[in-house]
Amino acid sequence: MSARIAVVGSTNMDLVAYVGVAPRLGETVTGREFRTVPGGKGANQAVAAARAGAEVVFVGAVGNDPFGPELRRTLADAGCDVSRLRTVAGPSGIAHIVVDDEGGNSIIVVPGANAGVTGLDDADRAALAGCDAVLLQLELPVSAAAAAAEAARAAGVATVLTPAPAGELDPALLDLVDLLVPNEHEAAALTGADDPEHALDALLERVPEAVITLGGAGCLYGARSGARTRVPARSVSAVDSTGAGDTFVGALSVARAEGAGPEAALRFATTAAALAVQRVGASTSMPSRAEIDVELA
Ligand code: ADP
Repeated sequence: MSARIAVVGSTNMDLVAYVGVAPRLGETVTGREFRTVPGGKGANQAVAAARAGAEVVFVGAVGNDPFGPELRRTLADAGCDVSRLRTVAGPSGIAHIVVDDEGGNSIIVVPGANAGVTGLDDADRAALAGCDAVLLQLELPVSAAAAAAEAARAAGVATVLTPAPAGELDPALLDLVDLLVPNEHEAAALTGADDPEHALDALLERVPEAVITLGGAGCLYGARSGARTRVPARSVSAVDSTGAGDTFVGALSVARAEGAGPEAALRFATTAAALAVQRVGASTSMPSRAEIDVELA
């Protein structure tokens, strides 16, 4: 049976400029190319999970601007259930992204419609209760993430939190998280520890399991039970790391929901993310289950 995943999260139109070297504050540079790519950490994780083989229901909002229908269609085309995606008056969320020739990125998010998602209704809770896991990020108001985590805990559904964008985290929300998946910068921001091993120790005082993703260096997993492992990234030629972490979390959650153990689930996620960084964009770069399985075979 397919894994069933709920994502309570953001949808943004990514406005992506490709440039040799990213501009510093006050500097103007000429870029090479510009694209609009449907994204948002929530939508990206939903597309990643759907492509990786899960049934996905998405809870969130788009605006009634021209980006709204395109964001909705992207989720629907990936096979996500969009019956819990609202259309609200005003602009959709956008992310202004700069990608340099090394494949590195910097991002400004303007929340738009996402800011109006402040909680869940009964139908959202019912959709969530039928799932194996709920994926949360911090691009919606924290009250929505907290409501989703509470509903998930009440229904016995695992909560996976990507604490991005980095910043202060509501301790009450963290108490409801089963698996925390920060990148190394988010882990350092949460714990004050720059060394990932130390950051992981600190995180495991707050949550039962955590994975710190380390970009091209792979990831570090730990559980309060004592298990700990480092999985190297696949050696590939990265062209655009936008959405690498979201692909990783989406795929990881699918593998876990299907019953894979930690090592196998991390390998699955690492393989999916390596495929994603070899293609441009976020939602556009996420691999299908068939592609992941071929690489793992
Ligand atoms: P985020 O996109 O949240 O910053 P990371 O950059 O840490 O997340 O990447 C998430 C995962 O994607 C990594 O753990 C790794 O498996 C994979 N990945 C990222 N960059 C590369 C790369 N250059 N080559 C291969 N895999 C990569």
